[in-house]
Amino acid sequence: MSGAPRVRVLDAPPRAATPEALLAALGGPAVWRVPGRDRSRARGVATLLHGNEPSGLRALQAWLAGGAVPAVDLVCFVGAVEAALGPPGFAHRMLPGRADLNRCFVPPFAGAEGETAGEALRLLREAGCEALVDLHNNTGHNPVYGVATEADAARVNVTALFAERLIVSGLRLGTLTEATSGDFPSVTIECGSAGDPAADRAALTGLARYAALEALDTRIVRAPRMAILEQPLRVRARDDVRLAFADAPVPGAGLTLAGDIDRHNFELLLPGVPVGWVGAGERWPLEAHGADGEEVSREWFALRDGLLETRRAAVPIMMTVDAAAAKSDCLFYLVRPREELAG
Ligand SMILES: [Zn+2]
Repeated sequence: MSGAPRVRVLDAPPRAATPEALLAALGGPAVWRVPGRDRSRARGVATLLHGNEPSGLRALQAWLAGGAVPAVDLVCFVGAVEAALGPPGFAHRMLPGRADLNRCFVPPFAGAEGETAGEALRLLREAGCEALVDLHNNTGHNPVYGVATEADAARVNVTALFAERLIVSGLRLGTLTEATSGDFPSVTIECGSAGDPAADRAALTGLARYAALEALDTRIVRAPRMAILEQPLRVRARDDVRLAFADAPVPGAGLTLAGDIDRHNFELLLPGVPVGWVGAGERWPLEAHGADGEEVSREWFALRDGLLETRRAAVPIMMTVDAAAAKSDCLFYLVRPREELAG
């Protein structure tokens, strides 16, 4: 059905003096293999599945430029290169009118992003990876954390190379790590805010450790410092709701969220904490879905005198104060600390 492959397989790792030069040299989605000391094994690293999340690409460019030889072959996949090249550069999650690549790793693999996803999946599987990390950024104020489908020893240990927090998610969004979770331990790493030098450093430090590691521990030898949070609910504003971020209710907005709401990421919010304002006469503004697909927003939030507040204790993550990001993806996720589930 389709013509030439979407994902270019390079013969050798690209060398470039800057991340921008690397991006220009790639021109489109690409896969390449960096020979390791042990050529019989491979590990995967994916990045730039969102064009406005540069930390992983910057880390790859810097790590390649350093000339380090990885412990095992490193199979690199860089995805949304065209979106990242769109002016002014690293500005578009995806190009206008195009699909979100990291929602396309599920059949039928249709359209440009679907084809890219399908080809990348095949290449990563054929490469015989023993693990995969997929490096991302987000827009709000967040620490570095991992996201995986389970918290087994291999995933905890891979995450620990980058972060001290791991989200265990049963949500099915069509991501690369979901699609490969049955093939090898696969973890998304959210490195922090796009454009924050600390996020770039976190990506490079973790990548260098991941590449240098002789063997991936599949046992917990020593309990790592890892906070595990789980059962995420994806909280969105309803499609017809006008959204605003401000320190007081914005006239005409269906939902105004506090302008510094992302400061609460990874904090335990007790019941009764105000999160925003609902305009007079406006409809219920939220939807929240867990892995089972049920809409449960009213179990987690309540409306009192125009004030939207928490109804149950939960930890918000990935809260953003970027209205475009909130509209195109979601407002935030709610998660629960693992140890509290026992009680
Ligand atoms: Zn992303």
